[in-house]
Amino acid sequence: MNILVINCGSSSLKFQLINTEDESVLAKGLCERIGIDGRLVYQPANGEKETIDSAMPTHKQAIQLVLDSLTDEKKGVIKSLDEVGAVGHRVVHGGEKFAASSVITEEMLKTVEECNDLAPLHNPANLIGINACKELMPNTPMVGVFDTAFHQTMEDTAFLYGIPYSMYEKYKVRKYGFHGTSHSFVSKRTAEFLGKDIKDMKIIVCHLGNGASICAVNGGKSVDTSMGLTPLEGLVMGTRSGDIDPAVIEFLAKKENKDITGVMNILNKESGVYGLSGEVSSDFRDLEAAAKDGNEKAARARQVFIYRVVKYIGSYIAAMNGVDAIAFTAGLGENDGSVRKEICDHFGYMGIEIDAEANSKRGEDMVISTENSKVKVVVIPTNEELAIARETLELVTK
Ligand code: ADP
Repeated sequence: MNILVINCGSSSLKFQLINTEDESVLAKGLCERIGIDGRLVYQPANGEKETIDSAMPTHKQAIQLVLDSLTDEKKGVIKSLDEVGAVGHRVVHGGEKFAASSVITEEMLKTVEECNDLAPLHNPANLIGINACKELMPNTPMVGVFDTAFHQTMEDTAFLYGIPYSMYEKYKVRKYGFHGTSHSFVSKRTAEFLGKDIKDMKIIVCHLGNGASICAVNGGKSVDTSMGLTPLEGLVMGTRSGDIDPAVIEFLAKKENKDITGVMNILNKESGVYGLSGEVSSDFRDLEAAAKDGNEKAARARQVFIYRVVKYIGSYIAAMNGVDAIAFTAGLGENDGSVRKEICDHFGYMGIEIDAEANSKRGEDMVISTENSKVKVVVIPTNEELAIARETLELVTK
């Protein structure tokens, strides 16, 4: 079956058409600047990448352009939309309502809407994408795959914040966690790659990209994760602060004469390694280059990031009372061997050893720890689109 995977943001939309028989990508691309002017980047598997500037006042028009490209006589990869068996939509927040992916129905969409408060920037955009797609493909089954679902197995001891319990009862304020599709995909693949049953494994997945989070996976279930009510908690990220003393917010508001929105903007967009480096960059490649040129702030930002990752890994080893494998994934986790090595060197005391040669490769599933290492360390490229396609296939063929 061909499955169209859609990840819809407020002004952009990423898509992939995946053939689930051999899990190949038939075409992929991206619509940008929706509602502004509009640009479609379209890449068929066996053809040239193409950038088309075309008006996209709404998401419906953007999706129409994607569907036109997919079925185009020359550059298309299918003859008609009948060849799309299902659509899988990424949905950011499923609150406590969704512990798994769900077939999209009117009732299901109402429930997603009830979670909008928890992700006001993301969920409404996801819903716009789903509704636009439904209008254009009314008879095609669709599935919503939630970033939060995988973490719904966390116990209350892990997901509750130390604030009045009534805040949880009234507003569902708690840790939810994100990147669930990636943490689930990578933990499953780690067990499979190491030839073990995931039920017998304690795995720590480090999803280190521009947004970054860590997840403790015990027996295949998420037992703790670093992001919280929103993706702001946890690691120091590209531009997000991660954990801070909440009193910093009031302090900065007073000192900088800003309202809550202004301070939250600092924490979300001007912090992380970008802010720490004195605005050099949120990209680790730029930070490394600047550090090599003697920029101390850039070097320190990288170290602060690494230190925070180390603290989370350490706390999850404690939470699970051990660890069998540590998996690195996402842009930085998959590509930056020096960051991986520096993180793992902190765990020399517990017998973790990195193989320098294995750690210098990239682009594939690989073990980067030595034969003697007490814990296996692996790099597993994440593939959230494929994970969404698999989930969608499972639900529509049930
Ligand atoms: P997101 O999906 O959260 O936007 P990605 O998973 O694509 O992020 O990761 C992007 C980040 O990965 C970049 O900002 C950069 O820091 C890092 N990265 C990507 N490629 C490399 C590389 N070759 N070396 C070091 N860091 C890299």
